[in-house]
Amino acid sequence: MSTIFSKIINKEIHADILFENDKILAFRDISPQAPVHFLVIPKKEIRTINDINEEDKSLIGELFIVAKEIAKKEGISEKGYRTIFNCNEHGGQTVYHIHLHVLGGRQLEWPPG
Ligand code: AMP
Repeated sequence: MSTIFSKIINKEIHADILFENDKILAFRDISPQAPVHFLVIPKKEIRTINDINEEDKSLIGELFIVAKEIAKKEGISEKGYRTIFNCNEHGGQTVYHIHLHVLGGRQLEWPPG
């Protein structure tokens, strides 16, 4: 089942895109929870973290490479930031196409609620 993120990948709906290559897309979250909040997603449709396979190993690693490069450009590398994958209901996942949240630009609370 495709999600709204497929429409962003296919440019059927607009997003504020920060990075794109053949495998990965990164864009600003439409409802930011911090001064900097963007999502890094694989173009491959993977529903949840539970659905990641051996063959996805390098792809998942690349999401983090892209995340840290954008974080640097956004000026949050030094102070720091948080990366999150929400999984299923208890994890608070609402879009079933895996996405790495990157949040920064303010002090984030820990532990989360
Ligand atoms: P999650 O709750 O972890 O599944 O996160 C989904 C995220 O996608 C939320 O933070 C939403 O604000 C964000 N989101 C939903 N629709 C869009 C959109 N059209 N463009 C950018 N971000 C979106």
